[in-house]
Amino acid sequence: MSKTKSNKQDNKEERNKRHKKAMQRKKEHVDSRIAEATVDKGLLVVLTGNGKGKSSSAFGMLARSVGHGLHCGVVQFIKGLWECGEQILFEDNPLVEFHVMKTGFTWETQDREKDIAAAEKTWERAARLLTDETFNVVILDELTYMLTYGYLDKSMVLEALQNRPPMQHVVVTGRNAARELIELADTVSEIADSKHAFNAGIKVQKGIDY
Ligand code: ATP
Ligand code: MG
Repeated sequence: MSKTKSNKQDNKEERNKRHKKAMQRKKEHVDSRIAEATVDKGLLVVLTGNGKGKSSSAFGMLARSVGHGLHCGVVQFIKGLWECGEQILFEDNPLVEFHVMKTGFTWETQDREKDIAAAEKTWERAARLLTDETFNVVILDELTYMLTYGYLDKSMVLEALQNRPPMQHVVVTGRNAARELIELADTVSEIADSKHAFNAGIKVQKGIDY
């Protein structure tokens, strides 16, 4: 073997050795972190922020849960203009109970009294799910707006979340999540808006946006 070739081989072996050592250390660290996580409980997950990906993440968790045979409830507090794909997919699934607030976006109804009545009626459905331990996972999509607009009483909502069955997971989505909701949550993701196609004049796309 030429001298440069054997040098290259030595370097490669040295690099592989270093990589193996680093991966061993990483595995030890990850394994010890996993061993430390022993608590089993129902999580409150809050997905907030101005970026795209809140509802789609929540419905991703719904898909995972249904895949595992878990009993799920979905309450959508704002009905969009387009029927979303996840509703079409899940509404007839025997594992999923799906409720959609009948009104459109608040800037479409422009009627505060009507919005409040719809919000309260929809909340009744959510409140029932939050007292029923047979529901393993509950998605409260766009709930934050009901608090921002003052359509629902914040302390009533927080109390229902706090007193839910201890093993029940709840996912709340929507911009501007209230501070108290963030404090109560176990997992909070604030999705930043770095770029959105809509702002470049591109219309909503089936499958990506709804
Ligand atoms: P998604 O349902 O796609 O996960 P989201 O739940 O994070 O979005 P919402 O505020 O509920 O966001 O808005 C729903 C709709 O608005 C979707 O069609 C989404 O693509 C679009 N949207 C989300 N974020 C933005 C943004 N920053 N600018 C423009 N449109 C957005
Ligand atoms: Mg959303």
